Amino acid sequence: MNEFKEILRETEISANSTFDVSSIRNDFPILQTLVRGKPLIYLDNAATTQKPQAVIDKITDYYTSGNSNIHRGVHLLSQKATKEYEDSRKTIQQFIGAAHPEEIIFTRGTTESINLIASAWGRQNIGPGDEIIISHMEHHSNIVPWQMLCKEKGAGLRIIPINDDGELIYDEYLRLINEKTKLVSVVHVSNSLGTVNPVKDIIREAHKYNIPVIVDGAQSIQHLEVDVKDLDCDFFAFSGHKIYGPTGIGVLYGKKQFLEEMPPYQGGGDMIASVSFEDTTFNELPYKFEAGTPNIAGAIALAEAVKYLNNIGIARIAKYESGLLDYAIDAIGPVSGIRLIGTARNKSSTCSFVLDGVHPHDIGTMLDVDGIAVRTGHHCTEPVMKRYGVPATTRASIAFYNTKEEINVLVKSIEKVIKMFS
Ligand code: PLP
Repeated sequence: MNEFKEILRETEISANSTFDVSSIRNDFPILQTLVRGKPLIYLDNAATTQKPQAVIDKITDYYTSGNSNIHRGVHLLSQKATKEYEDSRKTIQQFIGAAHPEEIIFTRGTTESINLIASAWGRQNIGPGDEIIISHMEHHSNIVPWQMLCKEKGAGLRIIPINDDGELIYDEYLRLINEKTKLVSVVHVSNSLGTVNPVKDIIREAHKYNIPVIVDGAQSIQHLEVDVKDLDCDFFAFSGHKIYGPTGIGVLYGKKQFLEEMPPYQGGGDMIASVSFEDTTFNELPYKFEAGTPNIAGAIALAEAVKYLNNIGIARIAKYESGLLDYAIDAIGPVSGIRLIGTARNKSSTCSFVLDGVHPHDIGTMLDVDGIAVRTGHHCTEPVMKRYGVPATTRASIAFYNTKEEINVLVKSIEKVIKMFS
C-alpha cells in the first residue's frame, strides 16, 4: 500500500496546477480498491468507465427520495421525477450542442441507438441495390444491424479499408460513394485501435450527395469535445456507462427532420398520442422513440456524470489524456517482443498490443495478479483482428483518473510476463 501512496504523492507533484489527478481520483471510490492485495490499476476504460461519487449518490438519492414513474402522474413525486428526467435531456442536449432537446432520445446504449436507426430509418429508406458504407474498424454493433438490414432489403454493405497504422484510407472512401450510396455510418474513435477518424470531412463529403451520416460516438464522447452541430452529423450515438454514467442508459441524437420522418422503433406506452383497436396515432418527439417506462434513474445519473465532466472540462481532460496516452505508447511500444496494433497519427485513449508467443488472455491473467485490469480479446471488432492477422490483442485504455505511475507499473508487469514466458 505504501508504494501506491508514494505513487499518488508523485502524481500530485507532477500534476500541473490545472489538472489535479489525485484529487480527481478521490472522486472515484472504486479506485481505492485492492485487487489481490494490490492497488487497482484500472485500464479497461474503453469497456466501461468507473463512476464518480456524485453519480453514485444521484442514483441513491433518486431511489431514496425521488422514485416515481414519469409523464403521466399528477402527484408531486411524479412531477419531480418528470422534471429531473426532462432536465437531464436538456443537459445532454447542451453537452453535445444539439439544437433541440427533442433531438435527444434516451436508449439503452450505443447498440440500441444504432439498431433504432437501422430499424426505423433503415427499413423506410433502404431498398434493393442500395449501398451502406461503414469502415473496417467498426464495432460489431455498427456492422451487424446493417448486415441484417442489407440481407432483409437486398442491399449491400461497402467497407472503407484501413492502412497498416489503422487509419481509414480516405481516397477509398471517396471512391466508394456512388449514386447507390444511401447511408454512411462510421465510428468516431475506434475501440480496438484508438484511431480518431476525420468524421467532419467524412460527413461533409457525404452531404455533397445528400447522404446522411451516423457517427458511433461510444469512444469519443468521453475523450473529445463533441459538437453535433459543428460536425453536422445526422445521427450520433453513445452509451452512458462509457462516460462515467450508469449502464443501461444511452443516447441517440438525431436531426429533428430525420426523427420527424422516421416511424417509431417500438410500440407501447408513452410513444402514443391515442390508441383504439382500429388505429394508433403516435406521440411527438422525443417520446415517439421512448416506448415504455424508461431508465429514469439512469438518465438522471447520466446527466450528473455530464455535469461532473463539465466541471472539470472535456478540453482539459482531452489534453491530459492525450499526454498520458503518448506516455503509455512510448513506454509500452519499445518493450522487446511487443507489437502495437493501431499506430494512427491521431489517437485517443487506447493502446492495443500483441506479444510474441504469448496469448493475450495469458497476459491479461498475469496482469490481473498485479491488480491491473486490461481487456483481452477481439474487442467486438473481429474484422480488425483479421486485418492484422491476430486472434486477439491486449488493450490498455486510459481515462483521466489514470496516471503515468500506473503506466509504469503496467510496463513492469508486462516485462514480468515476458520473463516468465521466455
Ligand atoms: N461502438 C463502439 C466503438 C464501442 O466501443 C462499443 C462498446 O464497446 C459500442 C459501440 C457498443 O456500446 P454498448 O455495448 O454500450 O451499446
